[in-house]
Amino acid sequence: MTDGDRGTGKRENEIIIGIDLGTTNSLAATVFEHGPEALHPPGGNAIVPSVLTRRDGGWIVGEEARELRTLEPENTVFSVKRLMGRDEADLKEALKHLPFSVRAAQRGLVKVHVGGEAFTPQEISAEILKFVRARAEEALGRPVAKAVITVPAYFDDAQRQATRDAGRIAGLEVVRIINEPTAAAIAYGLDQKQTGLVAVYDLGGGTFDISLLQLSGVVFKVLSTHGDTHLGGDDFDMLVAGELKRRLLESHPKAELDSPLASQLLRKTAELIKIDLSHAPDTQYTLELPAQGIAESGTFTAETLETLISPLVERTLVSCREVLRAAGKQPGDIEEVVMVGGSSRMPLVRKKVGEFFGRPLNIAINPDEVVAIGAGIQGHLLAGGRRDFVLLDVIPLSLGIETLGGTFSKLITANTTIPAEVDERFTTYVENQTGVDINIYQGEREFVKDCRNLGRFRLKGIPPMPAGLPHVKVTFHVDTNGILSVSAVEERSGTQAAIEVIPSHGLTNAEIETIMDQAVEHAIEDLNHRQLVEFRNMANAVFRGIKLAWSDAEAIMSAGQLKEIQAQMDVVREQAKGNDSVALKKEMDLLGDMTRPLADAIISKAALAELRNFYDETQHP
Ligand code: AMP
Repeated sequence: MTDGDRGTGKRENEIIIGIDLGTTNSLAATVFEHGPEALHPPGGNAIVPSVLTRRDGGWIVGEEARELRTLEPENTVFSVKRLMGRDEADLKEALKHLPFSVRAAQRGLVKVHVGGEAFTPQEISAEILKFVRARAEEALGRPVAKAVITVPAYFDDAQRQATRDAGRIAGLEVVRIINEPTAAAIAYGLDQKQTGLVAVYDLGGGTFDISLLQLSGVVFKVLSTHGDTHLGGDDFDMLVAGELKRRLLESHPKAELDSPLASQLLRKTAELIKIDLSHAPDTQYTLELPAQGIAESGTFTAETLETLISPLVERTLVSCREVLRAAGKQPGDIEEVVMVGGSSRMPLVRKKVGEFFGRPLNIAINPDEVVAIGAGIQGHLLAGGRRDFVLLDVIPLSLGIETLGGTFSKLITANTTIPAEVDERFTTYVENQTGVDINIYQGEREFVKDCRNLGRFRLKGIPPMPAGLPHVKVTFHVDTNGILSVSAVEERSGTQAAIEVIPSHGLTNAEIETIMDQAVEHAIEDLNHRQLVEFRNMANAVFRGIKLAWSDAEAIMSAGQLKEIQAQMDVVREQAKGNDSVALKKEMDLLGDMTRPLADAIISKAALAELRNFYDETQHP
């Protein structure tokens, strides 16, 4: 194979992938020519649940094992990361939460007993690594022998060594073990900032931690870490499942809801509800247990969810306070907050963490993938790869402002590389308008009602002028952090105003794709609607012009011509009420032909006025 084979830009033996070996999920990532990406087999998912089921002397790993977790609890192992490098004494608390059998072995170690055999946590983790590696190889179409593996910042030497050993057992050369928060910060390119304090808030399925990193040069030092090894999305699911159970028992007091099947159904439904409520104010659910004659539907609101989980989210903030206290820092000292873990998508979590640190959060990279991506970048650099890809290098969705009739005028189009700056001139449509609303939107559709509002501000104090005369220059600037600033200046008077917004607005790649797809789906109907609005605006402007110039018209046109114009104006007025943009345009063109001599007269008059204006301005700046 040659250099650049399959787009990774590295020779075959030089690839070093990054692996996030997680408590709940694991995945691999690497850097391609177009940038870093989680590795998934064609058509498959990058994320592998860190769950294994022992069957017929072999292991079932990932999604399938996750399904078997409640159905074959005695053969299924999960959360093995909690056992890595620990002895029985360390594990007293952890073992209470694990349904499978973990027993002391020689030299203070523990072994997991499953299917009549005993395995060290390293061996079991190695099975996850082998599975992730095989999928990475499938995705890349070539063998992989080296990896960077991530561990929590609080892992001690024994735990790190155990992770390294798991890699070795899986036949991988573990080139480096790096901290998960460091990897997340690298994924956001924060190592290139040289100095500063970074907080990494990681709320996954089963664990929570917050780490404070001090950056000096390109090296991150962990100043402090805090957390709760038994707090995460699973607990949120349990609370929702508890509420579902309560509701079910209200309508079916005799229901038997503690069987593995019922528990699994409640837990799965609860998780779906929770995930739905990250995007919607309420959601519908159905619970069916045919054997017990139960088929119940209901609505779950985000408000109920938030009431249930609020105490747990508060507990994460206690840790945030603690991690700052330990490092002798204040929330205001933190320059960047990076969000990691699937549960960090929850709106309540984002709101509370944003308020706590008093700043926008880094949420643009998929929080399930951000650690693996950082590890992939680290591996790429260790393999001698260059960092001339820019992270978050493109603007995912177009940015623009609302213009007359609710149309969306894009200033920066999707996939423009950042930093980016674009300006465009707009004007007023109303005589003597002294203020202009700048309403900022993100999206791909033609009308702002189908786009996402990012913020608004008003440019005030424009001196009264005829419509069309003010020159409002609107400038969009997106910096390297993806922060959008919008400013507007009326150039004749120098009046100005500005606002700063975060354009990514927490959209996931999937959401961005949906928005893109909708734009394509509606393209033709949007375009027709947009043209209709534009032609109506144009017709109004033409009518205003004719009205203003009517005395001139009477001087240069015959009574017959004037009558014809008036009749055609009525036709246009009628047509503008309909929905046919092509027909409207046709009638407007006809009106245009009839009023051409008049337009010529107006233009020369306007040109004279402009000249006079210019002369006045230069005389009296
Ligand atoms: P992780 O351990 O980082 O893979 O996170 C997994 C956890 O994130 C699980 O509890 C998921 O239910 C949860 N999760 C994933 N997506 C969302 C979402 N959109 N809203 C809320 N929780 C989510």
